Amino acid sequence: MSTLCWIGRRAPYVPTSIDRVALSEFDLIDRYFRGCGARRTDVRVGVGDDAAILDCPAGAELVAAVDTLVDGVHFPRGSPPASIGHRALAVNLSDLAAMGARPAWALLALTLPQADEAWLSEFAAGMSALARAHEVALVGGDTTSGPLCVTVQLLGYAPRASALLRSGGRAGDAVFVSGTPGDAAAGLAIEQGRLPGAGEAAAYLRERFLYPAPRLALGECLRRHASACIDVSDGLLGDASKLARASGCGVEITYDGIPVSDALVRAVGEERARELALTGGDDYELCFSVRPTHVARLLSELPPERWSYTRIGTLRETPGADVLRAGAVMSFSHSGYDHFTTPA
Ligand code: ADP
Ligand code: MG
Repeated sequence: MSTLCWIGRRAPYVPTSIDRVALSEFDLIDRYFRGCGARRTDVRVGVGDDAAILDCPAGAELVAAVDTLVDGVHFPRGSPPASIGHRALAVNLSDLAAMGARPAWALLALTLPQADEAWLSEFAAGMSALARAHEVALVGGDTTSGPLCVTVQLLGYAPRASALLRSGGRAGDAVFVSGTPGDAAAGLAIEQGRLPGAGEAAAYLRERFLYPAPRLALGECLRRHASACIDVSDGLLGDASKLARASGCGVEITYDGIPVSDALVRAVGEERARELALTGGDDYELCFSVRPTHVARLLSELPPERWSYTRIGTLRETPGADVLRAGAVMSFSHSGYDHFTTPA
């Protein structure tokens, strides 16, 4: 995930121990994390024993991901606790979506400066709501005291040898992206007070950063259609080029084809919207490639209006990533927008 959002200077950390506050570690786990998320019959042993015991379906492969969110690095200091709980799970759900896997079980390693019950209750509610929406059970974790840091490990499964990889693309494959990237980067800028005057669009854009909606249903359907897939967490251009590189190709992206939301265009204008769509982070959309011979079937079985995805380009033999606008190559750095160049 994007680590580019450093939020000012860190306040000095004053260590506190969970044991010193009224709520014991045991009570905290029992109150907020036992029963968090969905109930699943394949959880033979969940929160409460030394480890969880899970029943993986026959014929399936286990698919595992883990991601850490650090206070002030991956979310602004003082973010709504529900958003932190939501995002800690969402970033992992998005990784499983990119594999075409179905999520099932999560583990939560939580480091807290203090056992603040109001904070914990909102945090757990935010995580639980998203977990239930995707039928994920919280089956274990670890709770420690220290600077706020949230790690979620997510386990899921896919039918044997069917998961989507980054490496399956070939030159000539069509490249698509779901949703409207760039919204979350604008939402983060609004959260940080870097984008004043976003007007009515502000609420929508903030929501897109605080409560991203990972594309699990699309990911599972894409197992039948896509040659390669990656989730867009660090900016569309950078992630599309990661997919291309893993596939031994390069990628050409058509600037005018990049989907941007009306809200983003209203907030920052058309040019800046496309720039944010290419280089912003935290979208948790899917970028995927499809063989040219499979595109018609994709479009008819997963109508783009209903599934919300757009063709943005093509994989090519020449390495690297280019954005083309009216026949000219625009130059961007992967970590951010640089400057325009035109071919000699
Ligand atoms: P141990 O010392 O054996 O690791 P813990 O006291 O850390 O056990 O945890 C007790 C139980 O509570 C374990 O089942 C563990 O998985 C679970 N657990 C601990 N912290 C969390 C958490 N933040 N969320 C979910 N489950 C947790
Ligand atoms: Mg133990």
